[in-house]
Amino acid sequence: MAVSPLVAPTAQSSAFKRQPSAVPSSTGGTPLPSNAAPTSHPQPSSSSSQSLLRHGPAGPLTLDPIEQLNEDEKRKYVKGKKLGEGTYANVYLGHARHDPSVLVAIKKIKVQQQYQDGMAPDAVRELKYLRELRHPNIISLLSVFSSKDQNLNLVLEYLPLGDLEMLIRDVDRVRYGAGDIKAWMGMLARAVWFCHDNYVLHRDIKPNNLLIAADGEVKLADFGLARGFADPGRRMTANVITRWYRPPELLFGARHYGAAVDMWSVGMVFAELIIRAPFLAGNTEVEQIALICKHIGTPTEEVWPGVTRLREYTVPSEVVPVWPKDAYMGRFGAVGADGVDLLVRTLALDPKKRISAREMLEHRWWRTDPKPTRKEDLPRKSAGGEDKMGADLKRRPGVVEDEGAPRGQRVARKLDFGIAK
Ligand code: AMP
Repeated sequence: MAVSPLVAPTAQSSAFKRQPSAVPSSTGGTPLPSNAAPTSHPQPSSSSSQSLLRHGPAGPLTLDPIEQLNEDEKRKYVKGKKLGEGTYANVYLGHARHDPSVLVAIKKIKVQQQYQDGMAPDAVRELKYLRELRHPNIISLLSVFSSKDQNLNLVLEYLPLGDLEMLIRDVDRVRYGAGDIKAWMGMLARAVWFCHDNYVLHRDIKPNNLLIAADGEVKLADFGLARGFADPGRRMTANVITRWYRPPELLFGARHYGAAVDMWSVGMVFAELIIRAPFLAGNTEVEQIALICKHIGTPTEEVWPGVTRLREYTVPSEVVPVWPKDAYMGRFGAVGADGVDLLVRTLALDPKKRISAREMLEHRWWRTDPKPTRKEDLPRKSAGGEDKMGADLKRRPGVVEDEGAPRGQRVARKLDFGIAK
């Protein structure tokens, strides 16, 4: 198994090219989160067979094996209060039925009639990639089941400490330094390295998608825009990655691209961690390009051969030479000269010259002082945020699984766990 160049071997890491699926197959059980004790997750219970019957007009009908598997999986969890809402899903706090202290996040995908099978492509992607990628710095998918209202539910490890964006923005109450940034960047780099080593592009890396576990570990989440990139000939959409984190090749409409797109986002997160504000926050794509030109340099044939042939290449007429490393020291010097060197390599305009995740992990910055902070010593959400988190943890979630679903819809979506392998 390939091992992250920076860290000790990730013994619990696995990925589709090497390991079996991370979510239940028709024969498998619920996989454990990478940091959970082996006994902490629910196991199939014989009492679940009580749900074997459903009722049809002519009396009770038995469930077929796939429905039964789904019922068993669903019964392992109890859904509680809403934690948040995304574009295609609501996220709820949940717990294991057999042990309410085992908390999970249940992402309930909204049924959207305009899509085939009612599932947004983002949801399909998230399921596809999360079930394959298993690494301590990538959110774990624990289970999948369909509920009676035909919604698909992804059971994810619960990450109660918010996200990196919350820490970055809370300048009044959260203090952090170079060792903390190094620790967070190490976790991010390892997650991205693992995705890329398994030919997966995340395509939406930003502080808001870096969730924090109870032990301080940062986990890359939200794989709704992810895709494989093993086939370099395939055209891909340029309309991915949140604007502030989007690299110049996508802003110029490139349809063939690779892992370097994520690395630009990693660089932007790095910069943001240092200055505690988005580095280049354009309100439009045109403004985003203008900001890149102004603060990093104008992409020209000289610095990036072939750039002018990109479909939507357009830059302000005044050409700004690429800023040398020294020019970054004033604003980003908190991470030292080696840190700035890494930042500049990550924000190379030409994707071919941009540092890869593997090269990033081999950079000398990790070996210079200060050492990365131990995860248990990393800054956490401030007291205000902690109150909310404390409330989340203390609350005993109510059972809302069957909330008002009309009777006619109370047959679970049939899940063929084998299909998406
Ligand atoms: P998403 O649709 O993934 O963007 O999730 C929407 C919101 O739900 C996020 O902004 C988080 O506040 C919350 N959330 C998502 N996943 C989790 C998780 N695994 N643990 C805790 N909260 C989560």
